[in-house]
Amino acid sequence: MPRVLSPDLRSALTERVRYCHEMGVYDFYRREPLAAEAPVTTVPEPEDIASNPAFQPESREEMAPRKTAVMAKPAEESILEVIAPKPEQGVTDHVAALKLIREDLGDCTRCKLHKQGRKQIVFGVGNPHADLMFVGEGPGADEDTQGEPFVGRAGQLLNNMIKAMGIRREDVYIANVVKCRPPGNRTPERDECDTCSPFLMRQIAVIKPKVIVALGAVSAKNLLAINAPMSELRGRFYDFMPAGVRPDPDWQGARLAVTYHPAFLLRDPRQKGEAWKDLQMVMKFLGLKPPPKTEV
Ligand code: SF4
Repeated sequence: MPRVLSPDLRSALTERVRYCHEMGVYDFYRREPLAAEAPVTTVPEPEDIASNPAFQPESREEMAPRKTAVMAKPAEESILEVIAPKPEQGVTDHVAALKLIREDLGDCTRCKLHKQGRKQIVFGVGNPHADLMFVGEGPGADEDTQGEPFVGRAGQLLNNMIKAMGIRREDVYIANVVKCRPPGNRTPERDECDTCSPFLMRQIAVIKPKVIVALGAVSAKNLLAINAPMSELRGRFYDFMPAGVRPDPDWQGARLAVTYHPAFLLRDPRQKGEAWKDLQMVMKFLGLKPPPKTEV
């Protein structure tokens, strides 16, 4: 149930929001409280299709049983969301809505990454109606130069992973937790993620994917607000509803899976088989089949 505001509180908040708008501040976000993890249940083992040549995992290990866990969804509408709706709210055209979010981002200086050598903001790319969305950590040097996520070597591997799922890069949407390159490819810091990720949440709310794949621990921890090692984060689905956006009667949220970041897989190719298991779980849920094997 949305929270009902008393007239006094509503008036005070309205005044505060108006004041912030006059100061040039338009975005208000609230980090949702950490949800308790629900019991884990085992689901049937996925079909063994790890031999797909497009993905080329290093090993064909036995498939471990997959698990699914359910996270509690944020139950309430944000008070500030009620008072200060987003520009894209009510815009049903996904392309137009994403454009409004990009315009709202502007030449963003909201966090310190704007002054640490970025060439441009890397907003996101792909099908605005995608059923499947990949979320990485942040742009690297190639992405910073080209203005598109996952275009370097890690991007090539991600393309192969997508192809192995029987779909094309153009079929999915790809974005990052932070939209500006951290200097030296360092891990984005907490305050940078907290400042930038609300825009990602808004992108997700517009696209309304069925499944989100978090690429790497930084992405997973930011999306799920869980601090856990990859070994615990992987191998299950989470129910995911973007924080800080209005509940949507037409979309009850996405299922979220966690897998390794392609850059990590380039450093440790032995883990490709594990990543492939994660993708198979997603394929099973989406009803995707790998492309037919090509004769060598
Ligand atoms: Fe703005 Fe995000 Fe870039 Fe920080 S990382 S300056 S919040 S676009």
